[in-house]
Order: sequence, then C-alpha cells, then structure tokens
Amino acid sequence: MKNSKRTYKKNFKDNSKFKDKTHKKSVSRKETIEVKCIGMDEEGKGVIIHRNQRVSIPNLLEGETALVELLKKGDNLTGRLIQIKKTSSSRVKAKCPHYGECGGCQLQHMSYKGQSEFKQKFVQELMKPYGKVDPIITMEKPYDYRNKIHSTYAYGKKGEIISGIYEENTHRVIPIQRCIIQDPKADEINNSIRELMKSFKLNPYDEVRRQGFLRHVLIKTGFATKEVMVVLVTGSFVFPSKNNFIKALLKKHPEITTIVVNVNDKKTSMVLGEKEKVLYGKGTISDILCGCTFNISPKSFYQINPIQTHKLYSKAIEMADFKSDEIVLDAYSGIGTIGLILSKNVKSVIGVELNKDAVKDAIKNAKINNIKNARFYEGDAGEFMVKMAHQGEKLDTVMMDPPRSGSDEKFLSSVVKLSPKKVIYISCNPVTQARDLKYLTKHGYRVEGIQPVDMFPHTYHVENIVRLSKQ
Ligand code: SAH
Repeated sequence: MKNSKRTYKKNFKDNSKFKDKTHKKSVSRKETIEVKCIGMDEEGKGVIIHRNQRVSIPNLLEGETALVELLKKGDNLTGRLIQIKKTSSSRVKAKCPHYGECGGCQLQHMSYKGQSEFKQKFVQELMKPYGKVDPIITMEKPYDYRNKIHSTYAYGKKGEIISGIYEENTHRVIPIQRCIIQDPKADEINNSIRELMKSFKLNPYDEVRRQGFLRHVLIKTGFATKEVMVVLVTGSFVFPSKNNFIKALLKKHPEITTIVVNVNDKKTSMVLGEKEKVLYGKGTISDILCGCTFNISPKSFYQINPIQTHKLYSKAIEMADFKSDEIVLDAYSGIGTIGLILSKNVKSVIGVELNKDAVKDAIKNAKINNIKNARFYEGDAGEFMVKMAHQGEKLDTVMMDPPRSGSDEKFLSSVVKLSPKKVIYISCNPVTQARDLKYLTKHGYRVEGIQPVDMFPHTYHVENIVRLSKQ
C-alpha cells in the first residue's frame, strides 16, 4: 500500500486536472463526504454507493477510501475526487503529463497489472452466465503502440503554433509533443512539421474564421514494413512553398515514404475531407500482419495496435480450429484482414462489410496476396445474412467482428437459421457482445471459449473473443 502523505498530495494534484464540466454549472446541492470505493464501472471509474445510489467517480480505484464531492442535480448524482485517504496498491503516478486533461487514456493512474486485472474482472462479470474466461492476453511493453497518430493544429495562448488533441468535450487544443501510447517516430515527424511551419511562415487553420493552412496531421506507420505516410489536412489546395517544404521535411525524415495532402474546407468534426493529392511517393503504405500484406490509404481502417492485433487474430484462428473444407463468413470484414489471414486454412471465405471503400480495399488486398478463395461484398451484414438464409446457403463458420454497438437480431436470427457449426465472435465492446451471446445461447449455441485481449493499454477498452458451437 502506497499511502504516504506525499502520494496523497501528488494524487490530489493529478486529480485536479480532471475537469468535470457539470461542476461549473449551477447545482442544487453539493456535499463532501468520505467514501469507500467498492468496484469499478465499465469506463474504469471508481464506484461508490451513497444513500442507495451508485455514483461513478473518475480517478478513484477499487478499495480506496477518499473524500469526494457529490453534486445532486435533480435525480442525477455525480462526484469528483477531492483527496485519497487510503491508496490502492494498484495506484501509480500517471506517466503522461497530459493525463486527466486529454481524455485519451483513462487508466494511467493504475499499474498495468492493475489495468489487466480490472479488464479481466470486467469481462468475467459480463461472461458469468456463459463460462470460464481465460487470462487476458496482455502487452509486454504497453507503450508506443499506436501506428496511427492524429494531431490538430491551432494557435496557442501566446500566438505560437501548437499541435495536439482536443480537450475532452471542447474545441480547445491541448499542445502535445509526445504521447506515450503513440509511435515515437510519428511524434517526432509531427514535431518537425510544427517547427518547419514557423520557418515557412505557414499558419494553422482557424476553424471559426475558416481561414489559414494546416488543420490536422495524420501519420500512419507500417509496423513490419517501417513505411511512413504523412497526411497534411489543409483548408485548401493552395500550399505556399510546397516543394521546399516537402524537401525540408524529407531531409529531416528520410524514413517518410509518402506524403499526401487532403483538403478539408468544411465546417466539420471529421478529420479528412474528400479531395486528396499525392505529393510524394505512392499515396499509400503497406503493412504485414500474420503473413499477409495490407495496403493502407489515408482513409482506410486498420487496427491501431499491430503487436496485439497479431495476437488477437492468431488466437481467434486457433479457437476456430478450421478444417480445410470449411466455408467461412467474415462478417463486418473491414479491409478484409481477418478473412484474408484465415483464407489459407479453409476452402473459401465470404466477406461482408458496409463501408464501400473498405470493401474496395479488401478486394485489392486479396489481389496483392494472390488469394483466390475470398470474395468481399458491400452491404449490411444483417441483410446479407437474411439473403443467405433465404437462399439456403451453406456456412461452416461465422467469424464476426462488429462495431461497438454489436450485432443485431437480423444478423443473429439468420445465423441461427443458417446454423453454422461454429461462431467466433470478436468484439471491442463485451457489453454488447454479452447481449448478443444471450440471443445465440437461447437459440441453440453454447459458449466454448472466452479470451480477452488487451488491444488498448491505458484505456478502459478491452477486446474479447468468444467461441460458440452449435449444440
Ligand atoms: N474485422 C475488421 C473490421 C472490424 S471494425 C478488422 O479487424 O479490421 C467493424 C467493421 O464493421 C467496420 O469496418 C464497419 O464499417 C463495419 N460495419 C458497421 N456496421 C456494419 C453493418 N451493419 N454491416 C456490415 N458491416 C458493418
């Protein structure tokens, strides 16, 4: 237990950055009380019970005793940590100076071991009705993992050019030069771009006046190939001193393999605009994942933690235990990663995905890898399955990886109709996954394996693979 006075003070200081906007507005009732944290909610906030009401307190850990300020607005009770009285053994000082301000990581006040235990317990709780949960697959070095970085440009308080990310729920840019979960190379390149802007007298874009030059910088890196793509998102195609700027950037960073300018002149919270022009290189990068090569464009979706994605896909394929004569559906297939990687183990793969561009990428990726037994279709996975069920198609395994909202009854009822022997359900939101498992287990499927994977260390997110079999 770390509970020296020094630690309390530090924790208190750390916590002061956790801005709770609700506290700024007028409130009907405020009280400060000492509480014991009895558990954690799904976002990694500490749970306390006050007069039979459950309240989530940011930055509080299970087992800790603390002073918290409670605010009652109508029936709604919220709380803010004031001072820790008894510290959890999982508490550590956050490594990042922006912690609590940027909102990107929520669990940096917890040791990595503590984070893993929290995620394991969370999945176990949700999966209680379905069976035993295997120990979470963690990351050896849980830093520097993001292969995609996004930085917004603006003017700082002193009129200097800053780049970073929006403060949670606001449009104020927090200047960030180093983010400990991002690829350090990408951070260095972004810092050079900011420096070069000064020498080339380029302005950041002003969202309100809708004028200026650089809006965002997006950098994607190929983990296995070391290829680097820089996307400069600008307010217009007018790029003063373009050639010299590109030359200077490449001189500083010869590792950059392609530079793209993307024009976004709309009043929007979307990062990328419609129009694009390649300024240097091919306009895309590639990466190798589980033996397959994937082409990555500025807009295409690609898993952001390559080390853990390798473990996730390998585990899912191992759990599927494919036979060479199987027909597999890769539902919610994105750019085809899972389907293409598993294609060598089976007879054929049918992929379905809603996003048109992702489907195009999947078809391209099949060609690059010379894979002939995988087909990809654009459409809603549920509707596609209903059609398949109508036509009485045969499926041996359904591999599904839906978005956070989970699947829907259309899809799940068609799975039941088509009756594949196995369903491998990969999810980035075990809450909706548990809901969908309820349906499948009510309709003839049995859960045979549950495997959480930590894809996003320091955040509350957890990925989970479940194997179901037809009874
Ligand atoms: N399996 C991929 C992508 C998973 S992300 C990978 O691992 O890379 C979830 C995907 O589901 C996204 O590509 C999203 O575009 C797609 N999607 C969302 N709703 C969908 C729907 N109703 N039907 C089909 N695909 C959908």
